[in-house]
Amino acid sequence: MTPSAEPRLDIDGSQGEGGGQIVRTAVTLACVTGRPIRIRRIRAGRARPGLAAQHLTAVRAAQTLCSAQCSGLEKGSQQVEFQPGPIQGGDYTFDIGTAGATTLVLQTVLPPLLLADKPSTVTVAGGTHNPLAPPFDFLARSFVPRLADMGWHARIEMLRPGFYPAGGGCVQAGVKPAECEALGTLNLVERGPIRRIDAVVHTAQLPDRIAADQERLLRGSGIPLDRVSSVEVRNSAGPGNCVLAEIEAGNHITVLVAFGQRGKPSKAVIGELASVVIPFLESGAAVDRFLADQLLLYMALAGGGVFTTDQVTSHARTNMQVIGRFLPVEFDVVPQDGRWLIRCLTREQVAPVP
Ligand code: ATP
Repeated sequence: MTPSAEPRLDIDGSQGEGGGQIVRTAVTLACVTGRPIRIRRIRAGRARPGLAAQHLTAVRAAQTLCSAQCSGLEKGSQQVEFQPGPIQGGDYTFDIGTAGATTLVLQTVLPPLLLADKPSTVTVAGGTHNPLAPPFDFLARSFVPRLADMGWHARIEMLRPGFYPAGGGCVQAGVKPAECEALGTLNLVERGPIRRIDAVVHTAQLPDRIAADQERLLRGSGIPLDRVSSVEVRNSAGPGNCVLAEIEAGNHITVLVAFGQRGKPSKAVIGELASVVIPFLESGAAVDRFLADQLLLYMALAGGGVFTTDQVTSHARTNMQVIGRFLPVEFDVVPQDGRWLIRCLTREQVAPVP
């Protein structure tokens, strides 16, 4: 897409979920559409509003790719102006400087780089396994393969693990550009037969008994697991614990996670995992509630698509609103037999010309 001469869009950072995703989606789409934006009331829905290190790095990363002229780029800022120029593929490195989620920064720059003039490599330092963000494994095994189904090709690698709060991790993506017009639309309505459900306990710098306890608790969790195992993460900068459930159904892998933290009993960690895995399994949906909000932007860029999910979160609803400000699409959300059907339609499909 070429930069447009359209007027600046005003984005309200306090709408809906009122979190960091509004900022990331807005700068991503500003880059991709060439549309200048101003985002106000950034993260007004959070206890500490304004840009934190992860969001600031995400905006700066987007700025770098498209030589945007910006104001308000500092920690704690609640207003940012972003006037994009043309996207340039290349080799980029960004460092969050804290344990902020590298996966979220990567997700901010992937769409512009997927539409760039040449292939790119992007390296991001920070956290790779953070509560309330996609863990690296989710990106590698669930998110990126779904993009490939639509014709967006990226290869991602974890160069170093980095558990929150120590961080010190690093992820890298190699990105091959594609034309929007050449992209396929997503169709993930039926889940397909479940082939396997596995759980893996990840621990770093923690006593062995934690993994053993969590394996035992997983077996009694009510999740119909085929296999339970543990890995000890070796080259981590600090301690960490997460438990990943991997559900393979049809040609699609769903990755759901629960994080351990100091003072949180293992029983609570496994209970949290069961509380997302079991409703997902029971719903019959093809896409989990986290992947759901993350696929919307790619569907909109590809000009359509449809999937089912177990829950429509406020992240998803807010993202639909923000995406609809930039792109000529509408999202249709309907309940269907215990799950939700989400369709992305172009405005012509919504209101066909008579
Ligand atoms: P804030 O601090 O304002 O909440 P943020 O930038 O950390 O900002 P959100 O706006 O809450 O984050 O967006 C978080 C993103 O991380 C969403 O896309 C959400 O789907 C994703 N996410 C959260 N937890 C998981 C998880 N367990 N698995 C996969 N993705 C996740």
